[in-house]
Amino acid sequence: AILEALGLSERNPGTYLGNGEWSGAGAGAGAGADIEVHNPSNGERLSRVSSASVEDYEALMQRAAQSFAAWRATPAPRRGEAIRLCGEALRRNKDALGSLVSLEMGKIKAEGDGEVQEMVDIADFAVGQSRMLYGLSMHSERPGHRMYEQWHPLGVVGIISAFNFPVAVWAWNAFIAAVCGNVCVWKPSPKTPLSAIAATRLCNEALKAGGFPEVFFLLNDSGTELAQRLVDDKRVALVSFTGSTAVGRQVGVRVAQRMGRSLLELGGNNAIIVDRTADLKLAIPAIVFGAVGTAGQRCTSTRRLIVHESIVDDVVARLSAAYVQVEAHMGDPLTPGVLMGPLIDAAAVRRFEAMVEKAQAAGGRVVSGGRARGGPGHFVLPTLITGVRPDDEVVRTETFAPILYVLPYRTLEEAIAIQNGVPQGLSSAVFTQDLKVSEHFLSSAGSDCGIANVNIGTSGAEIGGAFGGEKETGGGRESGSDAWRAYMRRQTNTINYSDALPLAQGIRFEL
Ligand code: NAD
Repeated sequence: AILEALGLSERNPGTYLGNGEWSGAGAGAGAGADIEVHNPSNGERLSRVSSASVEDYEALMQRAAQSFAAWRATPAPRRGEAIRLCGEALRRNKDALGSLVSLEMGKIKAEGDGEVQEMVDIADFAVGQSRMLYGLSMHSERPGHRMYEQWHPLGVVGIISAFNFPVAVWAWNAFIAAVCGNVCVWKPSPKTPLSAIAATRLCNEALKAGGFPEVFFLLNDSGTELAQRLVDDKRVALVSFTGSTAVGRQVGVRVAQRMGRSLLELGGNNAIIVDRTADLKLAIPAIVFGAVGTAGQRCTSTRRLIVHESIVDDVVARLSAAYVQVEAHMGDPLTPGVLMGPLIDAAAVRRFEAMVEKAQAAGGRVVSGGRARGGPGHFVLPTLITGVRPDDEVVRTETFAPILYVLPYRTLEEAIAIQNGVPQGLSSAVFTQDLKVSEHFLSSAGSDCGIANVNIGTSGAEIGGAFGGEKETGGGRESGSDAWRAYMRRQTNTINYSDALPLAQGIRFEL
């Protein structure tokens, strides 16, 4: 019923070419194997999606180029109106699409709905942004001259996304890119192709009904061949990549080699510092949500807990009690009251198990969880580990699972050194009631992450701010603030309205 509500069936074409045309209903020439979509909470097959062929890719890139010619000529506030219609369509379908995300990806229904709400929010934001693509005006040093800058669209923006946010990450990119005048080609994760088809369909239908060109193209691929083609394609002005650091590193290098632009949103290894003055009524729920929300499969999931040594026993005891509650509320993510769903697939469960073993080999003690639940579905228990050291390899690695390492500290300097002492730099937080601690944490000598919070956990960012991280997280910024600039090219214009031709820097060149 969830699939039907969004026009999906047992086998779905995976490529959207524009003009209402889907390709791949039959196995197209050169297409890879069908993508089999399984329900992560019981292992049953949900549906199949056809992979795009190389011909599909070429046809789509040509359509995208045509669409761009019409779209860039559409005034930006009109483009905003188009995205407003997309936001309305998503509002109307929030329940259906939220359920599909939950079904296909395994996050609980509240988080699936939250993801669609995030799409609506970024659509609203993009509508306003469409009237605020501001450039500066400068004073020319030459008489009778005017100088200013303006921002133009880039062209085709390629979006490669991860499984864990099957629709919101696309919307962050696509809606801002679209009001900036770009068209988007999306290559979603083969683990979540159905949500991508549904989101693409809803938004393009809204555009079409409003009389706008369709600007959201879609490529599904069971492998990575087409993603790599997109990365290397000179017609793709910007590649926005969200995924693991290992793949993002290759993408960044390859795009740079052809002098393209990339926007990288890669892995995190986020920590919360709990100071001795922390209000544990706030800290404990924030830690638990950060660590077990989306079964630890958020880029901003809390993976390290840096706790003042004087309160570490108390914090661990409270967390253990909370973890018992979470364990008792694990199950089908669509069932009301469930707090934690499954991991995405069996390989993720194996990685979880291997990491727990490694942590134990490094001297770690499993306080809660530490094993797969067994039975159908890819469930693992929420896991709390003490006794590891900040520089142990397991602690420095992002494991996409609900594992939280507890690391005691003595001084604030030590806590900040631990927090910053990993290769990743996405999200961070401190719980404290001491103004000096919080200000120090936020200062230039404090957290080195793209996101630093006080008395709020590491996950669950609002769309109004710029989202992204430093170091191996890739340096990209998306969503709010001035992240729109990444989707445009800046042009500096100088206009001479005098009768003379003075040169800059007073250079004289007389014929
Ligand atoms: P992944 O790197 O395995 O896959 C991401 C995407 O890249 C998928 O669409 C995949 O098909 C594609 N891909 C794979 N190989 C490729 C190649 N050689 N060239 C081009 N594309 C290729 O990541 P995942 O397992 O889907 O997602 C989890 C990771 O994503 C985690 O590391 C998580 O932290 C990260 N993530 C980061 C953010 C962020 O904003 N920083 C947000 C969500 C997820």
